[in-house]
Amino acid sequence: MSTIAFIGLGNMGGPMAANLVKAGHVVRGADLSEASRDAAAAQGVSVSANAVDIVAGADVIITMLPNGKLVLNVWEQALPVAKKGALFIDSSTIDVDSARVAHRMAGEAGMAALDAPVSGGVGGAAAGTLTFMVGGAKEAFDAGKAVLDVMGGKIVHCGDAGAGQAAKICNNMILGISMIGVCEAFAMGEKLGLSHQALFDVASTSSGQCWSITSYCPVPGPVPTSPANNGYKPGFAVDLMLKDLKLSQDAASTSGAATPLGAAAAAIYERFAAAGFGGSDFSGIINFLRDGKH
Ligand code: NAD
Repeated sequence: MSTIAFIGLGNMGGPMAANLVKAGHVVRGADLSEASRDAAAAQGVSVSANAVDIVAGADVIITMLPNGKLVLNVWEQALPVAKKGALFIDSSTIDVDSARVAHRMAGEAGMAALDAPVSGGVGGAAAGTLTFMVGGAKEAFDAGKAVLDVMGGKIVHCGDAGAGQAAKICNNMILGISMIGVCEAFAMGEKLGLSHQALFDVASTSSGQCWSITSYCPVPGPVPTSPANNGYKPGFAVDLMLKDLKLSQDAASTSGAATPLGAAAAAIYERFAAAGFGGSDFSGIINFLRDGKH
């Protein structure tokens, strides 16, 4: 069993840390928010307000924070106090460039590092069924896999430094684009007099089939668990989708990739968020498109 320092005990980090405790690891946690600390303490995490306090002597240090700037800040403070050879894992969704800088900083300090963003949302974090997309050296991956297995259902080694973040933003760009496509089709079907169920029955088993239809259908009825049946409560909030689409656009621009549909999806979600829907589920974009406000 390992001693794990877990920094960022929010919606995702809290339940991830709780699963590490359940698996028998010694888990120390840090978060700026008292409410997050209290919730984690109730799950058996020993908590502190200061990230640096919990790092010394830990075998594995995990960060689960809102953005790349915060991750680099925390790693910069934590690396000098960590024990030599400790494994640093960042599971936040951040830009590929910052992920590569974090790997470089860790290497210079004599530590192993992985970027290991996740998919599966708060439900997957609680159930321990997240998908981890991992970037970093094979030895670091092998060293971290047992800990990631506790929190995840599928762990994919995507390549070297930054490859996990690259996979994450490519996947979420597909999701942002496909959800808008599915919403346009359902809204047009309504105008053509087609029932939601008929379009679902056809498209979920035909060439238009995708996750945005089969698991997350944006109209009430066909998929009872989708947020459309629950007033578009997230689920996966528009602000988080917009964050990921902006990261994909940053990556497109620095890598020289052409992503015209990714750019269009980012612009549409930006207008939806600006209209006051940043906190609703991203599949609610169907109401925006249906009203012709895009
Ligand atoms: P969150 O805002 O609920 O949690 C982030 C936590 O970090 C907060 O509790 C905050 O107080 C804490 N924090 C910020 N700065 C800190 C610091 N310097 N030291 C210690 N704690 C600090 O966010 P979340 O939903 O848990 O998401 C975390 C990351 O996971 C993000 O990068 C997000 O994009 C990604 N993600 C989220 C989801 C989701 O469905 N929520 C899904 C996949 C990936």
